Order: sequence, then C-alpha cells, then structure tokens
Amino acid sequence: MIAALREAGVTVTENAALGRLSFWRVGGNADILADVTTLEQLQLAMRFEGPVTVLGRGSNALIADAGIRGLVLRLRGGLADVRVLDDYAIAGGGLYLNVLLARLDKAGLAGAEAFAGVPGTVGGAVVMNAGTTMGEAKDFVDSVTLVMPGGQVVELAGPECGFRYRHSELPAGAVVAFATLRLRQDEDGRLAEDRVAFIERRKATQPLDKPSCGSTFTNPPGDHAARLIDAAGLKGHRIGGAVISDKHANFFLNTGGATAEDIRQLIVHARTVVQERFGVVLTPEVKLLGDWPADALGISAG
Ligand SMILES: Cc1cc2nc3c(=O)[nH]c(=O)nc-3n(C[C@H](O)[C@H](O)[C@H](O)COP(=O)(O)OP(=O)(O)OC[C@H]3O[C@@H](n4cnc5c(N)ncnc54)[C@H](O)[C@@H]3O)c2cc1C
Repeated sequence: MIAALREAGVTVTENAALGRLSFWRVGGNADILADVTTLEQLQLAMRFEGPVTVLGRGSNALIADAGIRGLVLRLRGGLADVRVLDDYAIAGGGLYLNVLLARLDKAGLAGAEAFAGVPGTVGGAVVMNAGTTMGEAKDFVDSVTLVMPGGQVVELAGPECGFRYRHSELPAGAVVAFATLRLRQDEDGRLAEDRVAFIERRKATQPLDKPSCGSTFTNPPGDHAARLIDAAGLKGHRIGGAVISDKHANFFLNTGGATAEDIRQLIVHARTVVQERFGVVLTPEVKLLGDWPADALGISAG
C-alpha cells in the first residue's frame, strides 16, 4: 500500500512523530502518516487493510504515548481548500476553521460564526458538531461528502449526520472529505465584527498560553464542567506535567514534559472526584486516538 500511495503522489512518512501534530504536544509515533490531497488519493488510502485514523488539527485529540498503529491520514491540498459560491461554500475536511472564516469574510459571507475561536479543521468540526454560544456546525452544515472504508464515496444531508451537542453519528470509519455550508450575505460586515469581539472575550477567560485541547469535558445538562471541577477543589491539581488550569478548570494543560498518560490520569481523577462529590458523571469531549485500553477514561466501551 505504501508504494501504491507514493505512486499516486501521496506524501508518506513511516514511523512519524505525532506529538508535534497534537495541540497537547503529546503522543508517540504513527506507523504510517499519509498526507492525501485529492478525493482519489483519499479513496485509495481508505483501501488500506488495517486500522485507519484521521487526524485533523489535533485540537481535540489525546494521542497515546504508544502512538497509532496502521495508517494515519491528514487531509491537505484540495481536501483543505474552499470553494465559495453564492450563498454556499464547499470546504475540504482538512481546512483550518480560521482560514475558512477569513475566506468567508473576504467574500462577504456569514453564517459560520459558530466556529469563531475553535482551532480545528472542517472535518473535525463536523465530527464533533463543534460550536460555541454562537451556534454549532449542525446549524449550517447542509451536507457532507464522506469516504468510507474501502473507498466508497457517500453523500449525507445535514439532518442525516445525527448531530447533537458536541457529537455526530456518522457511519463508522467515515472520513469527512468535504462539507457544504449554508451561508448568507453579511451586508454591513457586522456579523464578522461580532465574531472578532467574541474571540477577544474568550481570550480573557481561556488559558491559551499552554498546550491544551480546550474543554476536556462536555457540559452536563444545566451545569458547567468547569464549575463542577472548580467546586471540587481541583484547580491547580497536577499529575506529572499535566495540570488543571487555575484560569478555566475545564482546561487541562501540558506545563511542559507531560505525557499522554499524565493527561489521561488527570482526566480520570477529575471525573472520579466530581462524581464522588456531586454525583455527576462528566463525559470527556476529547477523543482518544491510538493504542489505549477500551476503558482508558474509566468508561468501558459500549
Ligand atoms: C484552545 C481551544 C479552544 C477550543 N474551543 C472549542 C469550542 O469553543 N468549541 C468546540 O466545539 N471545540 C473547541 N475546541 C476543541 C476542538 O478545536 C474542536 O473539537 C475541533 O472541532 C476539533 O477539530 P480537529 O481538526 O482539531 O480534530 P482532531 O482533534 O484532529 O480530531 C478530533 C476527532 O475528529 C476526527 N476527525 C478529524 N478530522 C476528521 C475527518 N476529516 N473525518 C473524520 N473524522 C475526523 C478524529 O479522528 C478525532 O476522532 C477547542 C480546542 C482548543 C485547543
């Protein structure tokens, strides 16, 4: 497969270090890292007979210290670009959200404000139904183009994606190659201004000076994970190089030299203490990628 990918023009790196590709700056190596730039290359890669993992920007991913077996894909080139039409945009799954928003600003289009300050890719944002108090992906994702294990291309309309709070129900193993976004004209540029102001307000409340994956847990109904972790006295709690932020208790920081295992243990500790103190079971928002046991976060699979 490696030879076939290279022959098709895919950049392939064996035993590739992944820590530098994750926001937490932790994690081991990928057996094979492949940068695919066209739908055809992605289809070819999806015929790989072994585990396939997609890495977006790594802003919501805890990569195991043992790394990721099999093939790790990144979407680049034509799969990380955007075509802006009248009131629509077709964005590649690998496109950074800040680049998307800048391109829409240039075209005078609004509608994707929900992605303001979210540092992921379009594909990661669809999978996570990413968003903020300004909305979420499900509000304006009109349809998605998926590539399935084996290489088949499948189109799903937004309502078929099973979007709910920070979650989607895409078919198992599907890779988001493109998303079609429903937009609208931003006649006087006011929506773009609101978005910039929103990002400024966030900067004041989030510890952005140290590596993290943003919110570690989703908010339980009617409450905030940060409030519960703070009320449990866990701000500043440290395991190895990982610490719970004093500024925002749902941000778990790599203070330098943390391992993925340090961060995992801190997540499990916070869940356990919050459950013991308040009877609330926090759900991790971050995704574990690579060689982890099924119950690594204290939740058994299924
Ligand atoms: C400082 C900070 C602030 C943040 N604020 C927010 C916020 O306000 N709201 C919010 O929702 N999130 C927030 N996040 C989390 C994160 O940015 C989002 O979840 C984002 O959507 C993840 O995108 P990604 O490309 O980084 O995905 P990754 O972290 O690379 O991957 C996440 C998951 O998506 C899968 N995936 C990635 N790309 C694809 C694809 N093309 N096809 C199929 N699967 C794919 C991966 O396999 C993995 O399971 C924040 C993170 C940070 C670091």
